[in-house]
Amino acid sequence: MTRALIIGGGVAGPVTAMALQKAGIDATVYEAYDSSADGVGAFLTLAVNGIAALGTLEAHPVVRDKGFATTKMSIGMGGKKPMAEFGFGAALPDGTSTQTITRAALYGSLRDEAVRRGVSIEYGKRLVAATPARDGVTATFADGSTAHADLLIGADGLRSTVRTIIDPEAPPPRYVPLLNTGGYAKGLRLDAEPGTMHMVFGRGCFYCYVTHPNGDVWWFANPRQPKELSREDLAAVSEDQWRTKMLDLFTKDDGPARALVTASDEIFPGWNTYDFPKVPTWHRDRMIIIGDAAHATSPASGQGASMAIEDAVTLAKCLRDSDSVPAAFTTYESLRRTRVERVVSQGKRNGDGKTLGPVMRHVLPLLFKLYTPGPDAMKWMYGHRIDWDSPTTAAR
Ligand SMILES: Cc1cc2nc3c(=O)[nH]c(=O)nc-3n(C[C@H](O)[C@H](O)[C@H](O)COP(=O)(O)OP(=O)(O)OC[C@H]3O[C@@H](n4cnc5c(N)ncnc54)[C@H](O)[C@@H]3O)c2cc1C
Repeated sequence: MTRALIIGGGVAGPVTAMALQKAGIDATVYEAYDSSADGVGAFLTLAVNGIAALGTLEAHPVVRDKGFATTKMSIGMGGKKPMAEFGFGAALPDGTSTQTITRAALYGSLRDEAVRRGVSIEYGKRLVAATPARDGVTATFADGSTAHADLLIGADGLRSTVRTIIDPEAPPPRYVPLLNTGGYAKGLRLDAEPGTMHMVFGRGCFYCYVTHPNGDVWWFANPRQPKELSREDLAAVSEDQWRTKMLDLFTKDDGPARALVTASDEIFPGWNTYDFPKVPTWHRDRMIIIGDAAHATSPASGQGASMAIEDAVTLAKCLRDSDSVPAAFTTYESLRRTRVERVVSQGKRNGDGKTLGPVMRHVLPLLFKLYTPGPDAMKWMYGHRIDWDSPTTAAR
């Protein structure tokens, strides 16, 4: 039986292991951190195309059970009436739609499901080196241990070690001049239907909120930050300082922004935003990168986790249907590169809108007057489906 080493136990790692298992390939996941390292942290929206990809493995219920349906987004300036409303794509035949879920619940449910299916996940295993040989790859971990298998899959995220092992000249991530923060507001009575994402181009800062069916309001905000802050700079900002900063930025806001801040017990400590316009080399010998390691997109696309899941399922299909590991990698890249780079470009455009700040408040109404996207405008993104049973052929 073919064996794979998967580096990274975030989103792509456990899903790849489940997909490979379905394809008849045995895999072990190696995660750098402890199993309890996730904390509650921020939340994300897993779009219906990612849910559908999980559905090919019958794994989408584990996410649906921990998240809540999010079917619509509205765009506005904070006043009562939004400028536009869009759907998050058609639901699956069983009714499951785009879900909003905490990052910790997403990671935890995917890992638990992989383990329940018999996948082995080893924690505290930080990959530091990988050596290809004719019959496979040997991975070396920071604790001095090694593992050998027929192939190695780097699902190790934005700061991927596997990416630089495959291509020492690989470009670094690109800084997107926005910070991310947010919180979970309790006890607010907003006139906002659960499951609608309200995107607000506020006077001082872009923010977004969505009401959970239990009445809590989950929100994030993207303060503009032209110069990249170091990890140390960010760590030096206290929770109180974040709260004060956000209240200042929201001073003139017309919407619920200040109420969201005051009703949140904790404000997420801010972190930087990055993407990758292009990672030229995805594979070499019997090693490949997938997910954020290969094509991180700005969070503004709302697609990073979905892309990671689509990658995982597509790669497993390619390995199932190809004569050799290198042939599978070539087919995989032909099927994925155009799509993921289009998503990254879309995320960049969305993020650029947020960096414009007050200018966007003048530009947006004009834009919507000139052009309102039709209901199918985002079908290319949300409507993508992978047919597990069909044979895999390279894209031309
Ligand atoms: C602020 C923010 C908001 C976002 N919002 C959304 C959203 O709404 N919707 C959406 O779809 N996506 C969103 N994303 C993107 C999404 O989180 C990522 O695209 C997704 O997590 C990528 O999955 P991954 O498995 O490739 O990487 P990750 O989830 O980052 O997992 C990588 C794993 O590899 C491990 N690792 C790293 N190095 C090593 C090593 N050397 N050895 C072993 N293990 C290693 C890490 O510890 C980690 O567990 C957002 C991202 C950010 C930053």
